[in-house]
Amino acid sequence: MIVYLKQIMSFIPFLQTPIEFLKGVGPVKAALLEKEIGVRTFGDLLYYFPFRYIDTTQLNRIKDLNENLDFVQLRGFVSNIRMEGNGARKRLIADFSDASGSVELVWFQGASFIEKNLHEGVLYNLFGKINLFKGFINIPHPEMEVFLAEDNNISKTALPMYSSTEKLRHKGLNNRQLGKLTKTLVELFSKQNPLELLPAYLREKEDLMGIKEALIQIHFPENEKNIELSSRRIKYQELLAAQLKIQSLKLNNQKFPGWDFEQVGSFFNDFYNNNLPFPLTQAQKRVIKEIREDTRTGHQMNRLLQGDVGSGKTIVALLSALIALDNGFQACIMAPTEILATQHYLGMKELLSNTKVKIELLTGNIKGKARKTILQDLQEGALHILVGTHALVEDKVVFKNLGLAVVDEQHRFGVAQRSKLWHKNTKPPHVLVMTATPIPRTLAMTVYGDLDISIIDELPPGRKPIQTVHRNEMYRAQVMEFARKEIASGRQVYIVYPLIHESQKLDYENLMQGYEQVRAYFPEPQYRVAMVHGQQDVATKESNMRKFVSGNAHILVSTTVIEVGVNVPNASIMIIESAERFGLSQLHQLRGRVGRGSEYSYCILLTTNKLSQDGKNRMRIMEKTQDGFLIAEEDLKMRGPGDIFGTKQSGSAVDFKLADLIQDVELIEATKKMAQDILARDPELTHPLNVELRRLLEFYTEADGNLKWERIS
Ligand code: ADP
Ligand code: MG
Repeated sequence: MIVYLKQIMSFIPFLQTPIEFLKGVGPVKAALLEKEIGVRTFGDLLYYFPFRYIDTTQLNRIKDLNENLDFVQLRGFVSNIRMEGNGARKRLIADFSDASGSVELVWFQGASFIEKNLHEGVLYNLFGKINLFKGFINIPHPEMEVFLAEDNNISKTALPMYSSTEKLRHKGLNNRQLGKLTKTLVELFSKQNPLELLPAYLREKEDLMGIKEALIQIHFPENEKNIELSSRRIKYQELLAAQLKIQSLKLNNQKFPGWDFEQVGSFFNDFYNNNLPFPLTQAQKRVIKEIREDTRTGHQMNRLLQGDVGSGKTIVALLSALIALDNGFQACIMAPTEILATQHYLGMKELLSNTKVKIELLTGNIKGKARKTILQDLQEGALHILVGTHALVEDKVVFKNLGLAVVDEQHRFGVAQRSKLWHKNTKPPHVLVMTATPIPRTLAMTVYGDLDISIIDELPPGRKPIQTVHRNEMYRAQVMEFARKEIASGRQVYIVYPLIHESQKLDYENLMQGYEQVRAYFPEPQYRVAMVHGQQDVATKESNMRKFVSGNAHILVSTTVIEVGVNVPNASIMIIESAERFGLSQLHQLRGRVGRGSEYSYCILLTTNKLSQDGKNRMRIMEKTQDGFLIAEEDLKMRGPGDIFGTKQSGSAVDFKLADLIQDVELIEATKKMAQDILARDPELTHPLNVELRRLLEFYTEADGNLKWERIS
């Protein structure tokens, strides 16, 4: 094997050597390593970083354990290993003791495998999270390692821990074994001369370790300080690669010439002075000013408008459109669903009823003569504003002179659809993207770094806070009783069920059962209940939705299809079933469907009565705050960015191996600035001093052009 390895090494660069050829791996484990943790090459394993270091000198004593400690590290023996319960509740229990006392360990999954591998009379190092169950402390699914004195030789105090998986452990690749493989690899690596990814001038300026030292130290740090220095160096390179990519995208955007909206004229002024239904908030004024400035630079605007649900983005869109009209251009407003598009259209049409603005709606359902007339008017310029669904991007939709495209709730649109809008005029129109998902600043700097950002951080005056309460499902009858009272005084009620993956049979059955249950609580003909979910065809969905929007149905039972933008001011209660299964941001979005009218409104979070600590925390956050940004930050902390923004699949640049969007704000800012400075001097990175940076980008770029990061959680 070693001989073979040497042969291969002569023509395959070290980092690209298949992991199979590392001593102790072989083809079977190699296949599993790739499948389970994406480690295919030496380089991949070298970049598979420890998720924690154990300070072997720091141990907790069992008698000091309490629920306020989060992670604990113990050293002791197991005894009294036993199975308890049966069926789904079957679990493995063991006592764990040190000189000070004893605590219960518990496993719900993989019990028989663990039972085989747990041995009494062996000294273990244990890491785990404290759990409080009926007033007693236990430690569920602890990580355990046989304690060997030799571990202390690898490093003086810090022992790296690598996350493993159930399947890897089955093949003998637990945290410890992964550590051994890494040690073998790092020894080989230390004889190599790796290519540097950061230029010397930059490392000097930012005081960063060299690549070789960093990669060695991050696995086997000589001391505490080197853990920090090496991880800072790796984070820096990850973040800089992302920022270089994002900032050069932005430079590219700025190169597009754009329409010049020279003036604000009578369309805007007439409306503003005579037809505006309410004074704008300071935040709305500020954003309109930002858009105004941005549309007269001669470059194309690419702006993201963030504002919590109900913060009043629509009027900003409309006023921006009027500026386009004042300069002889048309505008379009694109929404993700027919209902939303219709709502926008009807709302704007009414606002514009005393003006000369011609506005129309175009969706897939508008056909025949009506469609033909719209398309013709659009092409001739008789139509000023076109509102619609993605039907707007179709090739047959031709504008006379499109100057501004507003895209509402953008995360529902693909980049491809957006780019089609760009080709609707000889120069691309200005683009305003609106989203109600508050995006924490760090994420905005990374994910949407190529867009300029405007924020509406103020709600219109007079909003009554939405009373939010958490109830366990034993109280469902009382909750329904409360809903009955609200209905009696003329209000409407949402009841939402989780249907996270619309294909999940079980969720679907729950929804149907829920629907039947609701109908039992609210019998016809006194009550009318409508239902919408993703498995209905579009027409059924629309018509059921309309029953609720028009006030015809008292109750809307639905899945999260109502999450985005629907406006029914008369609805005053949002009941969310199995609320523990939703993410915080999603709960916040759902809650935002109520509290839109002048009445008091309520959000009731129904959960199981066996809620986890994490679940309880999340419900508490919802009860406590209505600040979308705060909720988004908490969500980011709890779940990681990939989950929230669905970016995991799309290969976007948010999932870093080491960098953390919450903790590394300063590094994110520093690398952003560095990337801007570098690109200002050397936009194509062709300067000889920057050769390492081209290598850096190559290193983090997949064949399809996306940056490659995975989050190891
Ligand atoms: P969103 O940002 O969620 O799209 P909307 O634009 O739908 O919010 O606005 C929510 C509600 O607030 C609408 O009924 C709108 O008429 C109202 N609104 C918007 N701006 C103001 C304001 N400055 N003063 C009072 N009401 C406003
Ligand atoms: Mg909206």
